Amino acid sequence: MNAPVDLFALLQATKEHAEAPNLADYDRFLVWFSGGKDSLACVLHLLECGVPPAKIEIGHHLVDGRESSRLMDWPVTESYVQAFAKHFGLKCYMSWRKGGFEREMLRENQKTAPVAFESEDGTVHEFGGDGGSENTRLKFPQTSADLRVRYCSSAVKIDVGARVLVHEPRFQQGKTLVVTGERAEESPSRAMYKAFEPHRCDLRNGKKVQRHIDAWRPVHKWTEAQVWAIIERHRVNPHPAYWIGFGRASCRTCIFSSPSGWATVRHYMPKAFIPIATYERRFGYTIHRTKTVDQLADSGVPFECDARWITIADSFEYTEPIIVDSWTLPPGAFKESAGPS
Ligand code: SF4
Repeated sequence: MNAPVDLFALLQATKEHAEAPNLADYDRFLVWFSGGKDSLACVLHLLECGVPPAKIEIGHHLVDGRESSRLMDWPVTESYVQAFAKHFGLKCYMSWRKGGFEREMLRENQKTAPVAFESEDGTVHEFGGDGGSENTRLKFPQTSADLRVRYCSSAVKIDVGARVLVHEPRFQQGKTLVVTGERAEESPSRAMYKAFEPHRCDLRNGKKVQRHIDAWRPVHKWTEAQVWAIIERHRVNPHPAYWIGFGRASCRTCIFSSPSGWATVRHYMPKAFIPIATYERRFGYTIHRTKTVDQLADSGVPFECDARWITIADSFEYTEPIIVDSWTLPPGAFKESAGPS
């Protein structure tokens, strides 16, 4: 007699199949790479799946742009991302909103700035800045799931990425898989994301232009332990922010920082903290609904860390190895990691 069919297992297998792309179908794999642990896990997972490094490219959004602003990001991040890409033999391109986060925040009867990105041929392309309406922000993004008020995520990341996909010639041909590192356990809204779907910039049935782009979140169901496990398997040295004690390597002065995160920046890197506190006073509008960043820092405790990592994180050149002989979990692993990136 035939064994009874396990309908639940069959349903699960079908669902998981629908949630995973056939990697052999794609011409290129673009990983939107912040330098944080989840983006490291995405690249390492692609490599473990057998994707040739020549087909993988890293795209990194410079939150502060390429001009003079240093308001938000870790100075070392761009260099860390480049060092990681170089070690694994991956192409690496930068993209940014001109003037970065700070210019967007200081808009006063102005349009949003154009987006610029490095192209395959080494040139920098610029798009946008001429459409949309003139308006005024003059306040920090708010710590909300609503992207209309948490405007940094769209202005310096999501929209920037979309411009790259729509205007860079190589994405207008063949099939591209865009890979990102959101995980369900990070937040209820991230839990709702699909693991695999056509990308919002996909235009595979377009009349004039056909652009085949899918989106894949390979670590969507992973736990943080699985993320650190793949980083350990490859002995990758994580971003210096984790060695200082942060649970995420997002912006150094991320609007979602915890009291101890603010206390750490104020204690060890006051030059990064003071401009934020000064802008809050100038705008008369704080990041947190009821507390200033100073009040938040007062209620936190600076992370205990090796001062060497402060110097490294605060520099523009990452000189540490990407691969380490004896790998250990950094102090930021499994620590507070509030907020989206
Ligand atoms: S890391 Fe924080 S401050 Fe930076 S863009 Fe993301 S949400 Fe905004």
